[in-house]
Amino acid sequence: MVQSNQVKNIMTVDVEEAFHRNDMVLSAKQRLRLSGRVVEQTQRLISLLRAKQQGATFFVLGEVAARYPDLVHMIVKNKFELALHGYGHRLVYEQKEHAFRREISRAKTMLEKIGGMKVIGFRAPSWSITAKSLWALRVLAEMGFKYDSSILPAKVNLGGMYYSNPLIHRRLEADIIEIPPSVVNVWGIHLPFSGGLYLRMLPYAFIRSCIRKLNKKGMRAVIYLHPWEMDSDLPRLPLGIKGRFALYHNINTVRRKVEQLLKDFSFISIREVL
Ligand SMILES: [Zn+2]
Repeated sequence: MVQSNQVKNIMTVDVEEAFHRNDMVLSAKQRLRLSGRVVEQTQRLISLLRAKQQGATFFVLGEVAARYPDLVHMIVKNKFELALHGYGHRLVYEQKEHAFRREISRAKTMLEKIGGMKVIGFRAPSWSITAKSLWALRVLAEMGFKYDSSILPAKVNLGGMYYSNPLIHRRLEADIIEIPPSVVNVWGIHLPFSGGLYLRMLPYAFIRSCIRKLNKKGMRAVIYLHPWEMDSDLPRLPLGIKGRFALYHNINTVRRKVEQLLKDFSFISIREVL
């Protein structure tokens, strides 16, 4: 059996504003008029990671990179991996292949130019690479992405693909490696625990036991965070009951959970794993 504290886990961050949620119906122009908080929020996360000398992959939204190029510089300067989270947080399965290719290709070129480094990783907004949009993996491989981290092996609100392999694996559709966010198997059912609302809802002791269980089998946990989860003064956005719950529920527990995670486990970026 592997010593669970020897396994290096993977930390990932989706760099976006809270108002990029897919249940907010705002145009790009409307979003530009809102004042952003992502720079300060990301700074907080970077400080926590740096304090514990932990690594991470930052999936940056193209729209955020275009508005705050210095945020991209900050990620690179602090030696974190720079990766892409799409451009305008559009769901992949709602796009046509040619439109997806054009948008992602432009965003990749822009992010590489700002960051001064090659971008090899992609994560779709809201786990929107599903059975309906697996063609996207081939398009990503053709664009030079080496890995994708968009397929959540569970069914959630806007995406996820329950029967997808929950371990790091090479896809059959294209020459690309899949890095799925971790799920836990409870009585034969995949349950997400490793980020977003799940990480906020579940008690820390449960999250820790899930990671230990994976690590004991020699497997890495893949955690995902959002900078806005580090913001206890997050402005109230005009959302329905469901959206409000998904955005604000237990948000003030995240900082403490992240600090504890960074204390209890080792984390590296996806690039370091590959
Ligand atoms: Zn996102």
